Amino acid sequence: MTIRKSFTYLAYSVALTGVLGAVVAACSVNPATGRNQFTGLMNTAQENQHGSKAQTQAEQTYGVVSDPKITAYINGICAKLQPGLERTDVSYRCTVLDSPVVNAFALPGGYININRGLLAYANSEAEVAGVLAHEMGHVTAKHISERYSQATLTQLGGTLASAALGSGAADQLIGLGSNLYLSSYSRSQETEADDLGIRYLNRGGYDPMAMGSFLSILQRESALQAAEAGKEHTEMRSFMATHPLTSERVARANQVAQASAPKGTNEGVAAHMAAINGLVYGDSPKDGYVKGNEFVHPGMGFAFYAPQAFTVKNSPQQVTAQSRSGSGAAFVFNGAAKPAGLDPATYITQGWVSGQQGLSNVESITVNGMRAATAQIQGSINNKPALMRLVAVEWTPTQVFRFQFAMPQSTTPEEIEIFKKITYSMRRLSEAEKNTATPKRVKVFTASAGDSVAAIASRMPFDDNLNEQRFRTLNGMNAGDAIIPGKQYKTISQ
Ligand SMILES: [Zn+2]
Repeated sequence: MTIRKSFTYLAYSVALTGVLGAVVAACSVNPATGRNQFTGLMNTAQENQHGSKAQTQAEQTYGVVSDPKITAYINGICAKLQPGLERTDVSYRCTVLDSPVVNAFALPGGYININRGLLAYANSEAEVAGVLAHEMGHVTAKHISERYSQATLTQLGGTLASAALGSGAADQLIGLGSNLYLSSYSRSQETEADDLGIRYLNRGGYDPMAMGSFLSILQRESALQAAEAGKEHTEMRSFMATHPLTSERVARANQVAQASAPKGTNEGVAAHMAAINGLVYGDSPKDGYVKGNEFVHPGMGFAFYAPQAFTVKNSPQQVTAQSRSGSGAAFVFNGAAKPAGLDPATYITQGWVSGQQGLSNVESITVNGMRAATAQIQGSINNKPALMRLVAVEWTPTQVFRFQFAMPQSTTPEEIEIFKKITYSMRRLSEAEKNTATPKRVKVFTASAGDSVAAIASRMPFDDNLNEQRFRTLNGMNAGDAIIPGKQYKTISQ
């Protein structure tokens, strides 16, 4: 969660829905794809307008990595790719967002975004270029306007915004992550963007095999993420069923790259390693993270109980957590503005869920000296009926922190006890606690004779048993691969 909390995609999709009714449709041949495309519902001027607005919101929500080394690196790749793009009616701008999620996305009008989380997992400049080129392919192929013109994507982000009450939002949020990169387009659009990306890699002088190699890194990273969440990894579960399975995509990308001519040759491993050395890895203290049994947010100065029994996911808008027991019990935590002077109970009934039927058990409580209130209401989570327990804690006269605890019928008594404990655990961090939070960073090193994966992995600052898998994933190494002396590797330090 960041301090800013604007619902980027909600505003964006609402704006675009408005466009649908207004403009007359047209069909034309796209010079990138050669396809006759039905995209007349959004023209270039509208694309630029919506893109610029959505880009501002994305930057406000996630923040931009302000390191000049990273900016120069990305702009350099962007500049090498741009001359190869068929579409010249939009200008291409590449931005590194300050998010740990392994993701990249394009917005209308040529706004290409890549997260710092993705840069950490790429192993060469060509792989980063492959991701940017793939996203540029979505722009040149007009996939975004195609989607809107076919009115198939009104849900682009609506679910991100509708926090919990009466919807499966909490569950869906938990399911998000690195898959965003792969899951918001149709299968054929992803394939087309991969092919265009390979074309643009070649034109930019980059080794086209980087497309397939980064896709296979995404596959490993997804397995690591599943392991971190304590779940067994299966591709079907991780990637939406309508999209090409990643192994299939890797094989296809490799085939297309091998058949392409003339081929680019630049891999840029050393350039990439130099650029990402020192980059923040994982949650940044400005966004909050799980530390021991607590969710801690040094930037905003709060903490609350977050036991191991729950998988916690931090997003810019909110924190969501789901029980590992499979009972379906979950909660959402976020912040909201409150009229000054309004007591928390009145805030719940007249502000938060004003007009909702069936609100009951409204009760004022005190949480570590702060005014707070709780109430319950019948809602649903993941399409199952659930009792929702609402909690509002007055953080400042004009700001509340809110918990929504979703308790479907299968919720265990232990989980209900945990929810009670969380309610009363919300606390302010001391100045010392705020200052001790240092982010983890990517550290690039050159291996010496005698270095082993096990030894290096054991020094990584994570308190789970996944460090060896994490190190291999970060460096694109297979299970049996040994360290090669003299070669550069990435590790994580703190
Ligand atoms: Zn894509």
